[in-house]
Amino acid sequence: MRLQLSPEDQKFREEMREFFTTQVPERIRNKVLARQELSKEEFVESQQILNAAGLAVPGWPVEWGGQDWSQLQRHIWHEEMQLAGVPQPLPFNAGMVGPVIAAFGSQELKERFLAKTANIDIWWSQGFSEPDAGSDLAGLRTTAIREGDEYIVNGQKTWTTLGQYGDWIFMLVRTDPKAAKKQEGISFLLIDMTTPGVTVRPIELIDGGFEVNEVFFENVRVPAENLVGEENKGWTYAKFLLGNERVGIAQVGASQRHLATAKSIAKERGVLDRYAARIVTLENELLALETTALRVAAHSDGGRPHPASSVLKIKGSQLTQAVSELLMDLEGPTALTSHDSRVFLNNRKVSIYGGSNEVQRTIIAGTILGL
Ligand SMILES: Cc1cc2nc3c(=O)[nH]c(=O)nc-3n(C[C@H](O)[C@H](O)[C@H](O)COP(=O)(O)OP(=O)(O)OC[C@H]3O[C@@H](n4cnc5c(N)ncnc54)[C@H](O)[C@@H]3O)c2cc1C
Repeated sequence: MRLQLSPEDQKFREEMREFFTTQVPERIRNKVLARQELSKEEFVESQQILNAAGLAVPGWPVEWGGQDWSQLQRHIWHEEMQLAGVPQPLPFNAGMVGPVIAAFGSQELKERFLAKTANIDIWWSQGFSEPDAGSDLAGLRTTAIREGDEYIVNGQKTWTTLGQYGDWIFMLVRTDPKAAKKQEGISFLLIDMTTPGVTVRPIELIDGGFEVNEVFFENVRVPAENLVGEENKGWTYAKFLLGNERVGIAQVGASQRHLATAKSIAKERGVLDRYAARIVTLENELLALETTALRVAAHSDGGRPHPASSVLKIKGSQLTQAVSELLMDLEGPTALTSHDSRVFLNNRKVSIYGGSNEVQRTIIAGTILGL
């Protein structure tokens, strides 16, 4: 969708496009456009360029590096970034722990972490899921028992994305094993991953890549000052974070870009007629998704995502998968050995992480439909 923009917003769009296509190195953008994996250094380089221009964390409070933009401008920023092939600011930093610290952390935690988080001087990992606590996240069992000025942490996290790069990990831990409801005894704790007792072990995925890990905690001593907000209130902070995570998974601009690639491949190979109906349907669905993204943004109150973020997550992940299936089909049998097949396999994850699509349907039933 190309919205009918006001002259100011049109100018804003052009400024974003100019910045992204001239300031972020082409070698990095070309890798993103070709759907190749980036190294840690490339992620960091790109985010630091954005941050120096105030473009890494526009959704944060202005005093911590955010921008006083309208929701529409934020949407344009996000869309232009994806269309130019600029890597998204690291979601764990920019979209997850940063907003949680800004909203719920003490002044001391804000001063200690926010600038470094925006500039990716600290690479954060997300330590929520456990072997028996994924969809049923509140069933987590990793404990943090207070001993004087420290918590002693024991347990295991899993599916920790890019944990091999992690400097710090933000964790949900059980601080009150006796709480009446399982959601009540959980806290949000920040852990330096170089602390003795932390072990990271890679998991190989179906596409042959190693982007997720198991992380083990054995008598890890964590200063109590690393607690975010109040003890046993971590579930509230986690819900805030997960809503933001779902919004980020939709990736409308990236799907639009990949669909445009598919369309030009179909044209080049003289098979556009055969695929036209499928391409047009996907184009329309992406337009509808973009409108939903704008609606979710417009109704996200004070950084708290609207429940429709679950709709965005479901539809966004379905369209990501549908576009990668189209690319596979266009490739034909050779796709089996091509890079597209890795992308196709890798994209199986998008309907699982951030809360599986089945679980999102339950959230929609409860929070939107009132069932
Ligand atoms: C590639 C990848 C990266 C990830 N990165 C991270 C990360 O960095 N940090 C982190 O903490 N976690 C991460 N996760 C974990 C992710 O959030 C969980 O995988 C997800 O929440 C599902 O949990 P589970 O894998 O334990 O599956 P389960 O909860 O065991 O679910 C298995 C199946 O049962 C279905 N199901 C479960 N409960 C219900 C229900 N109540 N109603 C209907 N269906 C249900 C699910 O939809 C799913 O199909 C990642 C996962 C993947 C795949």
